[in-house]
Amino acid sequence: MSRFIFITGGVVSSLGKGIASASLGALLQSRGLSVNMIKLDPYINVDPGTMSPFQHGEVYVTNDGAETDLDLGHYERFVGINCSRSSNYTTGRIYENVIAKERRGDYLGATVQVIPHITDEIKNSVLNSTNGADIVLVEIGGTVGDIESLPFLEAIRQMGFELGHDNVLYIHLTLIPYLPAAGEIKTKPTQHSVKELRSIGIQPDILLCRADREVPVDERRKIALFTNVAQDAVISAIDVDHIYKLPRELHEQGLDDIVVRHFSMDLPPADLSGWDRVVEAMENPDNEVSIGFVGKYVDHTDAYKSLNESLAHAGVHTRTKVNIVKIDSDNIETDGIDALKGLDAILVPGGFGSRGIEGKIAAANYARVNNIPYLGICLGMQVAVIEYARNVLGLSKAHSSEFNPKTPDPVIALVTEWTDRDGTIETRDESANLGGTMRLGAQTCKLVPGTKTRRAYGNEEIHERHRHRYEFNNNYLQRLQDAGLVISGLSVDNELVEMVELSDHPWFIGCQFHPEFTSQPLEGHPLFTSFINAAVENHRNKS
Ligand code: GLN
Repeated sequence: MSRFIFITGGVVSSLGKGIASASLGALLQSRGLSVNMIKLDPYINVDPGTMSPFQHGEVYVTNDGAETDLDLGHYERFVGINCSRSSNYTTGRIYENVIAKERRGDYLGATVQVIPHITDEIKNSVLNSTNGADIVLVEIGGTVGDIESLPFLEAIRQMGFELGHDNVLYIHLTLIPYLPAAGEIKTKPTQHSVKELRSIGIQPDILLCRADREVPVDERRKIALFTNVAQDAVISAIDVDHIYKLPRELHEQGLDDIVVRHFSMDLPPADLSGWDRVVEAMENPDNEVSIGFVGKYVDHTDAYKSLNESLAHAGVHTRTKVNIVKIDSDNIETDGIDALKGLDAILVPGGFGSRGIEGKIAAANYARVNNIPYLGICLGMQVAVIEYARNVLGLSKAHSSEFNPKTPDPVIALVTEWTDRDGTIETRDESANLGGTMRLGAQTCKLVPGTKTRRAYGNEEIHERHRHRYEFNNNYLQRLQDAGLVISGLSVDNELVEMVELSDHPWFIGCQFHPEFTSQPLEGHPLFTSFINAAVENHRNKS
């Protein structure tokens, strides 16, 4: 049977609960345990697919096409698992299931209530999503004390009671602020947060105290005394300059030992050599490059979480310090392309909506004519195709029908039918609601022999994840190819263009999918590694 670790958060949000949970997952995995991870989100949205990246950060897409919380990206990157639809449950989804059951009459006339019906649905969702792992880490989003967290906290309390304390462990992540005026750190918010948790019947076994400095032993003793947590289980999770240091950091403080002891397991010591290599490469780069990141939400780093991580992974695997220069595509429209000058490479990420689109097209043009390495992801590939159609093929009004439905030359358009992963025919409908019409999840892409893309991947077939509505319009395929655009990746049925490149350019690749969702720190990702190598090469040639 799986053992469960529940991680709650206290005092304030944004303490890095996802990263702490994922780091513990990595740590337990390094001791030979199989680990699965689940995120419970108290918000009412059924999934984060329709939430603004400004508010909620990126939407993370799993292999099976679920649009999920960005913490699942941390789980995949730290623990190497493949998350799925059953890795993320929101209040909206739980209620949707319960209401569907009620409508079907499954509750046999009972009055449907938060306890037991909602809490049972939460418990069953967790119990059915273990994948048979030795340890299942369940992170509860939000902060203890929030009204909407209560059913989730009640459900995990019941699980502790029902499965027994030997099989369940509670970790509470909290904040220990330093007050400059007083010249000391303060434990009171933590005391109150644990009091709140205990008032709903959950006694934490471990406290992870986020602080900007080591929590001194006296303060730890005090916290232990007030919270009923063993002193050695009051752990200071001090700020690290890079997240991949965290597994080692938590290990040094004995976190994995406390967990293993709690579950009375006899396990080999942690092997963190892979993580040590990642950190060593990050701290001792041989090269340095500047990548222009041309997007719409550039000031909001969470909106491009996986992409930023992927570039960092590529830095690790090429021993390169990757500086990301954020460029708002709006500003290119108003101020011109000066901001792009001197960069070693340019990246245009995925995006929705027309704001800044001409700036992105200008960036693709600048990279193409100046031989600057260019990586276009999803929308970034689409703007590269539009640019090529306009300026090489001479279709000056070419556009995506997403941004100009009346364009005479929709080189990017809505394809209404395609074959999905399992061979079923999927259809898109222009009038369908925002949530339901995207091509989502991992699909196979065949790489064309002799292309740079194929060389970069070193593979004939790849599996990458999609999240978009619009596609390369095959009515323009022949003309664009005749004008020199190289198609380097195709869907299995040859119907959809998945990747494009330029042959007379050092490195110019566009992909319709999002490679950033499959990049991992320990292995890196071939496309990003190749892109950063091209940037390093360009940097060398300049100097
Ligand atoms: N807006 C474009 C589409 O829907 C691109 C989406 C994306 O970049 N993820 O096709």
